[in-house]
Amino acid sequence: MDDRLTKILLIEDDEDDYVMTRDLLAEIEGKRLDLEWVTTYGSGIEAIDSKEHDIYLLDYRLGERTGLELLHEAIEKGCTAPIILLTGQGDQEVDIEAMKAGASDYLVKGEITAPLLERAIRYAIERKRTEEQIRLLAYYDTLTSLPNRVLFKDRLGQTLEHARRYQRLAAVLFLDLDDFKRINDTLGHHVGDLLLKSVSDRLTDCVRKSDTVARRTANEAADTVARLGGDEFIILLTEVNSISDVAQVAQRILNRLSYPYTLEGREVFTTTSIGIAMYPSDGEDIDTLLKHADTAMYHAKYQGKNNHQYYTESMGAVVLERLTSENSLRKALGRGEFLLHYQPQVDMRTGNIIGMEALIRWRRPGTGMILPADFIPLAEETGLIVPMSKWVLHTACTQNKVWQAAGIPPIRMSVNLASQQFEQEDLIKTIRRVLDESGMASHYLELEITESAFMQKSEATMNTLHKLTAMGVRLVLDDFGTGYSSLSQLKHIPLSVIKIDQTFVKEISTNRSDAAVVTAIVTMARGLNLEVVAEGVETEEQLSFLREQGCDAIQGYLLSRPLPVEEATTLLADVKGEALHRMAFVDES
Ligand code: C2E
Ligand code: MG
Ligand code: MG
Repeated sequence: MDDRLTKILLIEDDEDDYVMTRDLLAEIEGKRLDLEWVTTYGSGIEAIDSKEHDIYLLDYRLGERTGLELLHEAIEKGCTAPIILLTGQGDQEVDIEAMKAGASDYLVKGEITAPLLERAIRYAIERKRTEEQIRLLAYYDTLTSLPNRVLFKDRLGQTLEHARRYQRLAAVLFLDLDDFKRINDTLGHHVGDLLLKSVSDRLTDCVRKSDTVARRTANEAADTVARLGGDEFIILLTEVNSISDVAQVAQRILNRLSYPYTLEGREVFTTTSIGIAMYPSDGEDIDTLLKHADTAMYHAKYQGKNNHQYYTESMGAVVLERLTSENSLRKALGRGEFLLHYQPQVDMRTGNIIGMEALIRWRRPGTGMILPADFIPLAEETGLIVPMSKWVLHTACTQNKVWQAAGIPPIRMSVNLASQQFEQEDLIKTIRRVLDESGMASHYLELEITESAFMQKSEATMNTLHKLTAMGVRLVLDDFGTGYSSLSQLKHIPLSVIKIDQTFVKEISTNRSDAAVVTAIVTMARGLNLEVVAEGVETEEQLSFLREQGCDAIQGYLLSRPLPVEEATTLLADVKGEALHRMAFVDES
């Protein structure tokens, strides 16, 4: 016996027909059925609104009105339970119309038997359930259970229709997490998925609750949170009274999302950027509003992330610029527009140049020289970083070999790697090939990696790191102090060098706490047997402080800016391994 209770509502104005239906239901065995009865159109609609029943049996003739009208109204109101229409003998021709209007089945009074009724009820409920599942798959995102793009557009369409008719405002908020890629890369996709789920919960909390499972209609004012894919979310705010309402919601979202998330016992932080487009001022149709909210979101990113921006017409130009940049960046490699500058690293005790750091530049026709900060993020986002880095590795190693062949005492070559490259399965292969092709010995190669790459302590990453060191390549932790890691976390990583980030060096002589950080880093690095390089050294004061602390090597404008290859070659040829005498460098005392 099926012990689930099936709640049936009969909407029927004829008492005899009610009694007949009741008796038929009573004949059905092995089922727990509960029958409620209402007699008018109005009470039927009210009962359907209450959503308490599993199925409706609906009489075709309801006084002045017909069951068909009621059926239309019920479906319009988002009724999700099945409705079976009951007709008299003379009304059989309405069957097709009833099914078209959304009835689950159609039974002719007088021909109904208990088994027929039982089967009709069971099938109708089962079919609805299947339909509902299919609807969920088609309209909802499986990871977060939020509406997907299709459903969002549908709701937006309904909302716009309503807003047009009643002269209301509506707002579309386009959200993109600021750090998702880094979190996914460093902590893994599993944690990334957990983060997306938590974000979707918080977003849903931030807006007026909508019943995301039931179908709604335009006059039910509830906001919709949808996931467009990846780390992009979109929110529809209905019943907006003013622009400042929207700003409040946006601010609430920014706050809520920036609280730490605890995912698998780890604290994770992220922020988000929000672009806002308003109906009707920023667009009157679905596609325009979505496009403009997206544009405004990009603008929020440009404004430094973790903020919200309203769409303005001038933003179009910025996005156009980004698109053309992306296009020309794609072509830059093939067109030979990248070049490397080399910045010497100098041994603190001897003053000798012990290495060069290769720093990429993009000579973009019509724009001039572009520094990496202005195109590396775009290269990372678009995946162009991978072929670009291969080019950097190849060019730098080949150059170093050229210097060696010219009789210059061998020095190290430092190359920066993006954390993304650790995901590349062929990183090891690439480096082997580069060393082979250039003929440079592996122990001259230093790879500079930022903390985020090291944080992904996945087995694969650790394997890659160990393979690299086994090959003789040295690993350098770049920009130390700006990320999350503490030196103790780095114990297990086969590092050779840490580079103190220039922000600390900059303030050494004026800011006590920065000076203390530098002192602590040097001391701890000693304990871990790591070499310490300070970057961004610009003044004699900084130099002498770093020397006192026992820093091993330095790099910075005080000694030399990054130099084009000819100048770097001249410098190396001039000093021939001697100290950089033109600096008051080597401690002469
Ligand atoms: P980084 O690896 O920390 O490189 C040091 C940056 O500091 C360079 O900026 C350099 O020009 C600058 N710098 C050196 N000395 C001084 C100084 O005394 N004062 C000041 N204010 N700055 C100094 P650049 O060349 O603009 O590079 C910026 C960042 O771009 C690099 O930071 C690195 O993370 C990234 N990068 C550069 N080339 C590549 C590359 O080929 N691949 C990848 N993935 N990243 C690269
Ligand atoms: Mg570097
Ligand atoms: Mg650095």
